Amino acid sequence: MSSIEKDAGLVSYLRAGLLRWYDANGRDLPWREAGGPPDPYRVWLSEVMLQQTTVPHAAPYYEKFLKLWPTVGDLAAAADEAVMAEWAGLGYYSRARNLIKCARAVVAEHGGRFPASEATLLRLPGFGPYTAAAVAAIAFGEAANVVDGNIERIMTRLYAIEDPMPGAKVRVREVAQQWVAADRAGDWPQALMDLATAVCRPKSPLCLLCPLREGCAGFASGEPERFPVKLAKAAKPRRHGVAFVFIGNDGFIAERRADKGLLGGMLGIPHTPWRDTPWTEGEAKAVLGDFSHEKVGAYEHVFTHFALSQDIWVIPLSLAQRQAVLRAHNDWQWLPWEEARALPTVFLKAVKGLMPS
Ligand code: SF4
Repeated sequence: MSSIEKDAGLVSYLRAGLLRWYDANGRDLPWREAGGPPDPYRVWLSEVMLQQTTVPHAAPYYEKFLKLWPTVGDLAAAADEAVMAEWAGLGYYSRARNLIKCARAVVAEHGGRFPASEATLLRLPGFGPYTAAAVAAIAFGEAANVVDGNIERIMTRLYAIEDPMPGAKVRVREVAQQWVAADRAGDWPQALMDLATAVCRPKSPLCLLCPLREGCAGFASGEPERFPVKLAKAAKPRRHGVAFVFIGNDGFIAERRADKGLLGGMLGIPHTPWRDTPWTEGEAKAVLGDFSHEKVGAYEHVFTHFALSQDIWVIPLSLAQRQAVLRAHNDWQWLPWEEARALPTVFLKAVKGLMPS
């Protein structure tokens, strides 16, 4: 036994305690169905949506997707644009593209049923180690080692792991494996996730309410919130752009973005390239061309790898101008104001203040 491992008897005792806590305190989430085995499609959909997103933000999207596409076969048959539009606002759009690809692979290669093992799930589009383990455990009861950021936090605290993340990930997986068992294999990761949300919180863990406290080295250290140890973060680079919002009374111009690259295949708003230095009026005007514009504001949006500062220019169009502009750009379309929600957040921010109330 390595020095960091815990005694198997202690692990089993604490594990049972956490599962009892879960039975009494587990969250009532839309994808947790009472009675019967969980539907793998629902488990998968919720897990994909919850990556990088909070439960309150993801829940309405989950409900909407299930209503529109109740089965994986329905989702596989959906038009790409429809799925991308409904995904707008959830961010990380490559997940939506993989969602469609995965649904189609499940139908084409597995007869419309998700394969029941972690190893086979891992071969499906968009399935990384976390999603494969989570779906295998929750939907199929496989004793898979499910480790996400929340479970990492609990494990680094339980074992007071001093190595900084992300370098400590391998070690975290090793210690998390100690707790994996066939008994209630699907409830175990969900119990950990609920504990991470309600008790082992990032900033102020409520250790006195925690069923794992007796075996927690982080609690014993007196400074559990010190874990996981993180390396100091470098500041995000900043980019600058100008959004061109061509408007009429009933809507505005949206562009279909190229398939490859950031927000590929999504609707967007025409804009200058995003670069390291701010755009001067003259430079942006040269990109816009021969239109009258008014600068109406600016906004910020933070992506994973950079922060964007974007000016908003409004270009009012007459009907004749609109028709000419649309003829000149194949990838541009007129979007009624009420469909603005199909835009990813970074572009919705550019039009939000212009929409009729
Ligand atoms: Fe987290 Fe505190 Fe529980 Fe340890 S005792 S797992 S630090 S809440």
